Amino acid sequence: MSSAPIVANQLDVVLRNVADGITAQRPDGSLAYANDAAARLLGLASGDELIGLPGPELSSRFLMIGEEGGLLPPDELPNRRALASGQPEQGIVGYRLLPDGDERWSSVRSTPILSATGSVDLVINVIHDVTAERVALERARLLDETGAVFAASIDVDATFDALAALLVPSLADYCIVDLVEGDRLRQVVIRHRNPEREQLLRELRERYPPDANEAHPVSGVLATGAPYLVEDARVEALSHAAVDDEHLALYRRLEAMSYIVVPLEARGRMIGTISLGTGESGRRFGELDLSLARELARRAALAIDNALLFSAAQQSYAQLNTLLVSAPVGIGFWDRDLRFVRVNDALATINGLSPEEHVGRYLGDVVGELAPILVPLYRRVLETGEPVVHTESTDDDALQMGGRRHWLSSYYPVHTSDGEVIGIGAVIMEITDRKRADDRLRLLAEAGELFSTSLEQDEIASRIAHVGVPRLGDTCNVYLLRDGLLTRVACVAADPAAQPMLESLPSTFALAADSGRFAHAFTAAEPLLLRTVPEEYLEELERFGASRTAFEQIGTRSLMLVPIVARGQTLGLLTLGSRRPDRFDEHDLDLAQELAGRAGVAMDNAALVEELRRRAQAAQALEFVGDGVFLVGREGDILLWNPAAERITGLPEVQVVGSPAEAVLAGWPLGQGERPQTFPVEGPHRELWLSLSAAEFPQGTVYAFRDLTEERAVEQLKSDFVSTVSHELQTPLAAIYGAAMTLQRADVELNDVQEAGMLEVISGESERLARIVNDILLASRLDSGAATVEISRTDAAELARGVLAAAEAHLPPGVELALTVPEPSPQVAADPDGLRQVLVNLVENAVKYSPNGGLVELKLEPTDGRVLFVVRDRGLGIPASEHERIFEKFFRLDPNLARGVGGTGLGLYISREIVRRMGGRIRVESVPGSGSTFSFELPLA
Ligand code: ADP
Repeated sequence: MSSAPIVANQLDVVLRNVADGITAQRPDGSLAYANDAAARLLGLASGDELIGLPGPELSSRFLMIGEEGGLLPPDELPNRRALASGQPEQGIVGYRLLPDGDERWSSVRSTPILSATGSVDLVINVIHDVTAERVALERARLLDETGAVFAASIDVDATFDALAALLVPSLADYCIVDLVEGDRLRQVVIRHRNPEREQLLRELRERYPPDANEAHPVSGVLATGAPYLVEDARVEALSHAAVDDEHLALYRRLEAMSYIVVPLEARGRMIGTISLGTGESGRRFGELDLSLARELARRAALAIDNALLFSAAQQSYAQLNTLLVSAPVGIGFWDRDLRFVRVNDALATINGLSPEEHVGRYLGDVVGELAPILVPLYRRVLETGEPVVHTESTDDDALQMGGRRHWLSSYYPVHTSDGEVIGIGAVIMEITDRKRADDRLRLLAEAGELFSTSLEQDEIASRIAHVGVPRLGDTCNVYLLRDGLLTRVACVAADPAAQPMLESLPSTFALAADSGRFAHAFTAAEPLLLRTVPEEYLEELERFGASRTAFEQIGTRSLMLVPIVARGQTLGLLTLGSRRPDRFDEHDLDLAQELAGRAGVAMDNAALVEELRRRAQAAQALEFVGDGVFLVGREGDILLWNPAAERITGLPEVQVVGSPAEAVLAGWPLGQGERPQTFPVEGPHRELWLSLSAAEFPQGTVYAFRDLTEERAVEQLKSDFVSTVSHELQTPLAAIYGAAMTLQRADVELNDVQEAGMLEVISGESERLARIVNDILLASRLDSGAATVEISRTDAAELARGVLAAAEAHLPPGVELALTVPEPSPQVAADPDGLRQVLVNLVENAVKYSPNGGLVELKLEPTDGRVLFVVRDRGLGIPASEHERIFEKFFRLDPNLARGVGGTGLGLYISREIVRRMGGRIRVESVPGSGSTFSFELPLA
């Protein structure tokens, strides 16, 4: 070195301006020199200030800490070591400045300056500030370690425990982690470097939980998501966060110093907070710590979120696994070589091996006869990467719904996440039951439809047989109860060759107690299932006339006998046979029963319809029948009243039906047994004679009645005739007989006059007899239509005069005759004999029924183109009620001759009939006691 040596004050300037702190220390520890940088490291303004500070005061301004964060014993300081060893020493020294707790870190290099004697005169310390590096390192270390913690753990609580262990005490004196669970906070971790204080902290948290305190920093962070830093809690933050004085006192006891709360936020959701605090360490958090804490929290939240996701995934994996094992459908996985990787219990059962036995085997070796179908199918899935849904094809056996099983399977490729197909998965579901149920429903629906469209029992039977064959069996017979015998009404064999055999089997079965199982199935209404037809059954059939050869040719090996029942009544028997032994089981029997049930309903309906039809006809008959019919229910009310009843009695249906019979039909001989009763009732126009018969039936009594009035009148007529004729004939006959006997008597001498008198009696009475007989004959000829009239131009006045002249001949005393005829005499179109007879009758009656005498007038009055004939008397007269009846045959007002006037009751009948035949109508007007007027009109000729 050629330059001049540096002078002391120049050196000072240099030292003062270097960035590193430089001190010179005497062996007693006092400072000989300190530059400003050194002073700044210890929180002082200048080197001089530092030098001027007495030793104890200096050491009260900071604590020295080692690399591990603990207090550094003074002997381990590099300067002390250099003093002791006389060698340069170096080390990392931390200064925690009091009272704030700020940490500074320095790399200290101490070089002793030796005296000539070899003792240390001075120690020169070069103090290089490594705080920033240190913090960065610390931070990297923490992040590194926490990273390991988070990566290793899937348990949330354990993760936070480990995190707290990392942070306390290296970063903070205590650490609390709160997680949001539902609407509460759970304190997951609470850790303090000092166990006593940890207790205190717990107590504080328990008594003042943050979720009950909105001012609590945790609540604030959760609400806003913004981190929270209190560098110096002592100032006022504590009193802000404290709920009350006691709370504040607890904080104080913790010597709470600095405080950080950072949010744990995962996928935009606030899941909790991490709180870090310092107390006794005197450490103060700054922005750097806050950003470290935030980074930690971010990683923790991520880890926790992953852990939660993982545990959820694990849970769902467990669920999936349970599902796989216990699923009622077969599930399996195969590798690309079609070796079984895994199968669940259901698929294992289908294949008849244990799940473990499957693993490693080839598909083709396990599924046996299905291999030719399945192996290519699996290969296709592997090759195409497309899933396949496969149902077992249906063959003839399945068509018959036999013991075959049905599967519905789907096969799909199994991919890795990058799309490589690594195997096949399959879901295999047994659908035998479903298919059976489907087929069953379809069959029943079809059958129901088929049956319901027929109203003939035989047709329905034939339809059952055709539904049953071939879908249920090879043969089907339907027997129905006919005249006490089970009679076959339909039989169908699937095999045409078997049909004649089937028909050759007995077509009727008696229903005796020993009629065997066939008849028993009917009588007991119990279905019979013969899975395989036993020998005894054949023997039994033989006894009832079946040919065994025929039966064997039909080849029935499995048989069902099912009664056809409707509304509790057995209508018949359905048989279904199959050539396959064991073809039928309980399912088939069930189905056959359902089928028979539907057939039964249809047959029952058919019978009901028939019955209804019959009833409708009966009801129609009731409408049209001429007899009155009515129904009296158990309660005595009239339930039915047919139109004839209404017509005969004149009582309308509306008035009668629903009313008590006793009231409406008073006087009717109701409830008097089943013998017909004849009785009179007041009819709509006249008295009626009815004949009533009754028949009891469960719901009441049905009565039928007919109008016997006419018949009764005829009867009456007959008896009237007999009594009248016998009486009327008797009188003249007696007179003739008396006269004839007198004339014959030898002992009686008669003079001529007497003899002539006798003869006159005989001739007169004979004439009367002849007239009576004539009247009877004429009446009967008029009745039968044999009597006809011959119309001619007749002089009415002349004829009337003749009639009166004849009447004059034996006119009783007191009666006078008078004739009034117009001039000139009118000519009428009439039968002259008939007209004469009519006028004779009317005039004779007028005379006869005027016992007290009086004028009898015969009047002819010309009217408009006609002539009115009037015969009027002043005699007994006729009551108005009898004005019609006097014209009836044999009717007499006084049949018992109370008034002493005889007659046959034929005169007026004959007169009416003759007038009618001549085109007129005879009428009467009369007042009893004042006489009668008979009149009729005839056309002018
Ligand atoms: P008949 O006079 O022989 O009894 P009719 O047929 O001539 O028979 O008369 C039927 C009944 O009508 C008589 O019995 C009588 O009661 C009544 N009748 C007929 N004409 C008269 C009359 N002019 N006055 C009163 N009653 C009469």
